[in-house]
Amino acid sequence: MRVGVLSLQGGYAAHSALLAGIGHEPVDVRTASALAGVDGLVLPGGESSTMLKLIGFSDLHDPLDAFVRAGRPVLATCAGLILAARRVTGPEQASFGWLDVDVARNAWGRQIESFEASADEGGLPLVFIRAPRLTRVGPGVTAVAHYEGEVVAVRQGPIVGASFHPELAGDATLHRLAFGDPGAP
Ligand code: GLN
Repeated sequence: MRVGVLSLQGGYAAHSALLAGIGHEPVDVRTASALAGVDGLVLPGGESSTMLKLIGFSDLHDPLDAFVRAGRPVLATCAGLILAARRVTGPEQASFGWLDVDVARNAWGRQIESFEASADEGGLPLVFIRAPRLTRVGPGVTAVAHYEGEVVAVRQGPIVGASFHPELAGDATLHRLAFGDPGAP
């Protein structure tokens, strides 16, 4: 699958490498025309407030909204999850509202308190960097992974969201969940 990676800011390169490693074709997305040529999309980690500004400068707000609302597969990690959420606190911030969850920004600790762990389910490595906490998970949203009993990854139809950075641990579980597994290239 041609999977776009929103490449305005933040940790997009590691997502592209991981997607290529499992046989997808990653495409940097910085413009609406690049978005028009992909079948799925990764919203990476980074700084969500900066990403929102750059989405505005790049005239990508409406094209992104239309792309996701058309039901295409999406993986939103960390700052990407913040963009996708219904409501954002800590501080409050605009968001697209694609995913029926609320998040509190930076609520897993500051940069200096970044940490690595494993999901309660075992196996799945979790890298938290100023990560958002899921403060509400809507009824149509399925929990995919927990950490210390708290939901840290979710799925709502074609949208998968995670509060951590799977790409920094080199783990493609959520990429496969969102975009399928074409097999090694
Ligand atoms: N704290 C960042 C934000 O609010 C997210 C951090 C991350 O993506 N690692 O956007």
